[in-house]
Amino acid sequence: MSELDSVEELYQQVILDHNRTPRNFRKLEDADRSAEGHNPLCGDHLWVFVRMEGNRIGDITFYGAGCAISKASASMMTEAVKGKSRQEAEELFERFRRLVMGGDGGSLGKLAAFSGVSEFPVRVKCATLAWHTLRSALEGKEETVSTE
Ligand code: ZN
Repeated sequence: MSELDSVEELYQQVILDHNRTPRNFRKLEDADRSAEGHNPLCGDHLWVFVRMEGNRIGDITFYGAGCAISKASASMMTEAVKGKSRQEAEELFERFRRLVMGGDGGSLGKLAAFSGVSEFPVRVKCATLAWHTLRSALEGKEETVSTE
């Protein structure tokens, strides 16, 4: 097995694990912000719940149904942005988006597992749905986010 294969294998495992056992997968009862996201192309449909603590994301959860990529991405996103400021979360989204578009996202830790998504343009929407939904929640918008 080449080194590249083993890295891809590892990334695959991380995504499968988060799909099988999504973290923070529940409704957040005391959320002060939430948004709904929909990716009609794939059928992914999820909600993101946030409770702010000052300018920071005190707690974040998600709920809904979708493909493995969308669910694993939402799961890892909740872990990545908890405790971050709105600005930091936004910056992370920008870098994550660069990564899944095939660019250089810089150091992204576990989120780097989604680098392979860039080879499947249709999947980019699956991978970024939770992030778009988070942005909408942080902006306090009411309407459903659609990737279309
Ligand atoms: Zn999907």
